[in-house]
Amino acid sequence: MIRRTKHIVIGMVLMFGAAGCGVEPGQPGHVASDTRGPAAAGESQGTALSSGDRIVKTDAEWRATLTPKQYLVLREQGTEPARTGEYEHMKEPGTYVCAGCGQALFSSDAKYDSGSGWPSFWEPIDEGHVETETDRGHGMVRTEVHCSRCAGHLGHIFEDGPRPTGLRYCINSVSLKHVPEGEGDAEE
Ligand SMILES: [Zn+2]
Repeated sequence: MIRRTKHIVIGMVLMFGAAGCGVEPGQPGHVASDTRGPAAAGESQGTALSSGDRIVKTDAEWRATLTPKQYLVLREQGTEPARTGEYEHMKEPGTYVCAGCGQALFSSDAKYDSGSGWPSFWEPIDEGHVETETDRGHGMVRTEVHCSRCAGHLGHIFEDGPRPTGLRYCINSVSLKHVPEGEGDAEE
């Protein structure tokens, strides 16, 4: 009982002030991993990093490897408060990889300042590295986007982005890790 209460409190703290990419954050405790559809068509592309290899861990394992904030967003569809993420204004060239599994998700080349309070991109680095799902929570229909390898929740996609895609990938900073250009093995 005590543990449950703590969890709710942490959730509320993180939810505070969050307009959630224009709406509100996910509900702590709601784990939607079992609603993922079958493998996306893009996953059999056989890139060098074998992006088709799914990473499946138990909640306990994720809790052990992620920070509480990362866990809330990646595994429980939470949303970090607007204008609090470390990458909102990041302009350094590089690759944004999944904070859960390291898969390359976005390039700094596709990042732009949307003014939304969250890091925004107009396209993923590889269509096969992200998957989407219809999110009917909170009385609206939105497109949720998550990592194709670990199913970690990243954010939502809106259709008010810049050209050429017209899309806005509204992503939580805590779902990402920025790898500076020329450093590490940013997976393409
Ligand atoms: Zn991932």
